Amino acid sequence: MRKKIVAGNWKMNTSIAEGELLANQIDFLTSTLDNDVQIIITPPYTHLQKVGMVLKDHKSKVELAAQNCADHTSGAYTGEVSVEMLKELTCKYVILGHSERREYYGETNETLLKKINLVLSAGLKPIFCVGEKLEEREANKHFEVVASQIKEVLYKLRGVEFANVIVAYEPVWAIGTGKTATSDQAEEMHAYIRRVIADKFAQYADETPILYGGSCKPSNAAEIFSKENVDGGLIGGASLNAQDFVTIIKSF
Ligand code: PEP
Repeated sequence: MRKKIVAGNWKMNTSIAEGELLANQIDFLTSTLDNDVQIIITPPYTHLQKVGMVLKDHKSKVELAAQNCADHTSGAYTGEVSVEMLKELTCKYVILGHSERREYYGETNETLLKKINLVLSAGLKPIFCVGEKLEEREANKHFEVVASQIKEVLYKLRGVEFANVIVAYEPVWAIGTGKTATSDQAEEMHAYIRRVIADKFAQYADETPILYGGSCKPSNAAEIFSKENVDGGLIGGASLNAQDFVTIIKSF
């Protein structure tokens, strides 16, 4: 049985106090849920300590993740935050390769390979994002683009390492735009991703969680999550509202 996961990506939103409140609300609303969905929240770096304390104090089932990490272990890298620092802050997961980081901060597959190795060596789990831009889909290159993102990073891992990877398919044209991939488009790509994974890691492909991300909200989550190869969601905007986020979690 594959894990079901719903992860909220808060991006660069909320004050620390707002973040604590949001974490408290999410914890409260999920504390009595008896479904088997793994719930993850991903506040900005500055919020991790306080939000982590909220989750610890409440013995919450909600787990903590970071939105990024450095591509070095320590040293003279001004402005960067290492995986060990995130681990100390009780993060269990790190989002890597989000399209906003690829596009605005020039993250390449080469950098992502370094980061994913550091995350895995520290015993944390990467949520590795892949996805095509609108022009790539229109040119019918979406499968090729996603396959190369997987091959240039995930194929370089050993099987035992790959076993800890969560993949998120996030079509760039659907992120923060209000445009969602149809559930059939999502399923088509998720099934393809699973086949690409199986070509290299046959033994792990069936168990790999593949999340959908891109304008997922309470009104469309159930339809998207109903698809065989969709194992959950990476939720941006809608994760900033506790009620909406929890409605999405309950959509399974
Ligand atoms: C995201 O940034 O990972 C995302 C899916 O954003 P949104 O849900 O706002 O489209």
